[in-house]
Amino acid sequence: MHINCHKCQKAFQIKENDLAFYDHVSPVFAGRKYSIPPPINCPHCRQCHRLAFRNQTALFPRTAFPGGEKIFSMYPPSAPFPVMRNEDWFSDRWNALDYGREYSFEKSFMEQLYELHKVVPRYTAINNIRTENCEYCNNASDDKNCYLTFSMSNAEDCLYSESVWGSKDCVESTLTIESELCYDCTNCTRSFRLQSSFNSENCSDSLFLLNCRNCRDCFGCVNLRNKKYCIWNEQKSKEEYELFLRSFDGSSFQTREKYRKEFEDMTHQHPRPHTIMHQVEDCTGNCVLESRNVKNSNFIQHGENLDNCFNLYDKTNDCRDYTFFGRSAELIYDCCTCGNNISRLIFCYTCRNQSSDLFYCISCDGCKNCFGCVGLWKREYCILNKQYTKDEYEKMATRIIEHMRTTKEWGEFFPVRFNPMPYNRSIAYRYYPISEEEAKLKGYSWYEEDIKDFPDAIKASQLPDGLPETDAPITVKSALSGRPFRITTQEIERYRELNVPLPRESYEERMNKRAQKLGSPQLYERTCAKTGKAILTPYPPDSPYIIWDRKEYEDTFQ
Ligand SMILES: [Zn+2]
Repeated sequence: MHINCHKCQKAFQIKENDLAFYDHVSPVFAGRKYSIPPPINCPHCRQCHRLAFRNQTALFPRTAFPGGEKIFSMYPPSAPFPVMRNEDWFSDRWNALDYGREYSFEKSFMEQLYELHKVVPRYTAINNIRTENCEYCNNASDDKNCYLTFSMSNAEDCLYSESVWGSKDCVESTLTIESELCYDCTNCTRSFRLQSSFNSENCSDSLFLLNCRNCRDCFGCVNLRNKKYCIWNEQKSKEEYELFLRSFDGSSFQTREKYRKEFEDMTHQHPRPHTIMHQVEDCTGNCVLESRNVKNSNFIQHGENLDNCFNLYDKTNDCRDYTFFGRSAELIYDCCTCGNNISRLIFCYTCRNQSSDLFYCISCDGCKNCFGCVGLWKREYCILNKQYTKDEYEKMATRIIEHMRTTKEWGEFFPVRFNPMPYNRSIAYRYYPISEEEAKLKGYSWYEEDIKDFPDAIKASQLPDGLPETDAPITVKSALSGRPFRITTQEIERYRELNVPLPRESYEERMNKRAQKLGSPQLYERTCAKTGKAILTPYPPDSPYIIWDRKEYEDTFQ
């Protein structure tokens, strides 16, 4: 069937297998199935709506509840609910059931859930899954000694990085897997001492590589395989290479910028595959790794039978409209920032850790069979944070679904007023930037640092070209936006070890730039520059690159 999207008005199709999925995840209470209706918004609008709920890289200064202590949290000061320090939240010093209330059939479901949403405390940040010394991190699991890193797992001693897994000592890196001592890398795997490189694998002691495999001691190279001592794709002797490298002042910002531009121009002359896919079967989208039957999805690793999903890792099966983060998840529908051993979560936000059979829940951990609950930990059979018996729960849940059908609330994700994220700090802004005015018209909030809080901030242009003389912290106004950001002593020490210059832009802006190299979730119809075959690619038609069908590319550069 065709439906006109209620948001963008464009027609979209609901296929047989979509209907079968909605039927499959529809809840059964007391032997009767309560069908989830098809969505009223198109897949793109649904994805954008969830992306705006996702805090990927922002930490906000705010006060903790109770006590008023200054903390950094994934929630901005404008969020309507109190935020507790993690150690308080995961303790018996409070009880989320104290906020419980009776469901009223006189008011709408969302109205009542919103009242609860405003008052129940949340934890500071998602950095409590087996992590150590990762206070200024979010969405962290199994990490140690990381600082301002996001969506990381099994990472150690990393700094200013995003989606880095199983890696050590990486700085300024994005989607970097099983690698060490990398700097400014994006989508690099099993690499060592690699800098300013993109989409390369098994490479070491090199700078400025694109789409290279098994290379070492190379500089400014594209599409090379099994090479050593190459500069700008030309074979050199060991001595020539070493002579060149001695003339390269890695700590100079100007020098790096000059080579970065030269390298960027060079990449325009070489073909690149139309999507990033690795060991996939029957998949569409971009950045899909080791997956099967994944459609219309981005940033997926170890996924199976997924559709319209975004950024899911580590065993995610049979899910749709699921935005972040997987790690053993199945039968998840229309959820955002949920994961870690979860199943049958429907219309949920930030629910994690062995949770199952949750409907319209927010920030519930280790919960089962709950409906419209907020901030519960290890509870079962609750509605609006009120405890029921199993029988009472099932009876109430069915009545509430019937009620929600009459108010047209059953079958859609939370409305925008539930979104605590300022639009310009959500991951949606990375891919779909809009003005403050437009964001506010759509009901989103907006966030800017108060420049008065940084009276000692200097302009980025006032930074030394090379490394500073001392390790004293510096506050800088971003060369891109003027946004102030701090460069700490710890950070300067790491840059000194790596012999790289100080950054000129805020860490979030740097992360956004690296992530944009991986392409937006939007795919464009183009043709392969070699064969003319029709392709769907994240590179827009006006991008300067030579795009080849991925299969053609792989056959040529084996
Ligand atoms: Zn739409």
